[in-house]
Formats: sequence, structure tokens, C-alpha cells
Amino acid sequence: MSTNNSISPIQADLVRIISKYVLLEESRRHLKGRCPFHKDLATSMLVYAEKNLFQCFGCGKGGGPVEFVMAIENKSREEAIQLITTQR
Ligand SMILES: [Zn+2]
Repeated sequence: MSTNNSISPIQADLVRIISKYVLLEESRRHLKGRCPFHKDLATSMLVYAEKNLFQCFGCGKGGGPVEFVMAIENKSREEAIQLITTQR
């Protein structure tokens, strides 16, 4: 566990991050949108705000804020974390 008081990038608001790239629709227990990682004609990507996780049922991609930024910006884990922490 980190002892400093800054918010860990893992705790970054995934919904807010994904919303920059994808239009999310509210669904009953989650948000959903067109997956940016494959040619999505439906809304295959679900975002679970409570868990801060996303999962695409079309291409299988999933994870948290770091994994999303890594994939969409084509960054390393370190670069993605830096991007998330400097954007807040
Ligand atoms: Zn997908």
C-alpha cells in the first residue's frame, strides 16, 4: 500500500476517462457504449462504475483505468499511469 495521500491512478474515475472517447449510455446496473477496440456495431462494452472496470463482450478487452488508457492511447503501463495522473 502506498502511504502518500495522492489518489492512486487505479482509483481514477474510469467512467470519466472512457467518456472522453466513447459515448456511454446508462443501463440498469452499468453503463454501455460502443467499444473503441473493435468494429462495434452494437454497444458491446460495459462499464461498471462501482467496480471501476470495463469489459467488452465483443473482443474481450477489459480492465481498469490504466488498461483502458494503455489500449486506447497505445501506451505502456507507466505512460498510461502518468497520463492519468497528469490529466486530473
Ligand atoms: Zn471490443
